[in-house]
Amino acid sequence: MKIDEGIGYIELHSVVNEIPLVFRPTVIWDDKDVILIDTGYPGQFEAIRDQLAKLTPGRLTKIIITHHDYDHIGSLYEVISGFNHKIEVFANELTKPYIQGEKKLMKTGVTVPVIQVDTTITDGQVLPFCGGISVIFTPGHTPDHLSLYHHAAKTLISGDALTADQGQLQYPTKKFTLDMDQAIQSITRFLDYEIDKAICFHGGVCKNQVMERLAALAAGKVTSDQ
Ligand SMILES: [Zn+2]
Repeated sequence: MKIDEGIGYIELHSVVNEIPLVFRPTVIWDDKDVILIDTGYPGQFEAIRDQLAKLTPGRLTKIIITHHDYDHIGSLYEVISGFNHKIEVFANELTKPYIQGEKKLMKTGVTVPVIQVDTTITDGQVLPFCGGISVIFTPGHTPDHLSLYHHAAKTLISGDALTADQGQLQYPTKKFTLDMDQAIQSITRFLDYEIDKAICFHGGVCKNQVMERLAALAAGKVTSDQ
């Protein structure tokens, strides 16, 4: 689903503990690059390939990982091996050992098939792709979590630093968030950006009064029913 010039998301469906879930990895593209942000649980290669082809004519060149949770890196190995061309993998230093199979994932205790991270990315960096993508370190949901900001479309890619429910931004889900105080503190980082809309991996796109909502979430003023 395209949401603005050169940015959109795909939808991956999984059933976890008999509950059907939808994940929405963001896709950013221009005439040089197609960048996928996060990959879903294992078994999603075909869905990712087919939906990317519908969204943009270019071929996948880069994958950026927001954090090491299984629903974000589970299909990384399959996507990298499924396409028959080089795809660069970007992640931060803390996420790297999980992707490279050196550490067990914090929440599930599994290890994933080894993929090499090509480039490590850090807080404050502006990646020179697709008009500029800023890296915002947002620990809390996991200690390695980062979010991204796509300057051209003024869009926040929150990863799991936020969720969305019926078009409204929410705190990350409590039971999957390792340090909620830190997660709320991390939301204050978003206030430095001019955000027109936000895409959450869980919950989708929010467009209504995003800055006001972010300020309320950062101030701890939103009641969470999760
Ligand atoms: Zn997640």
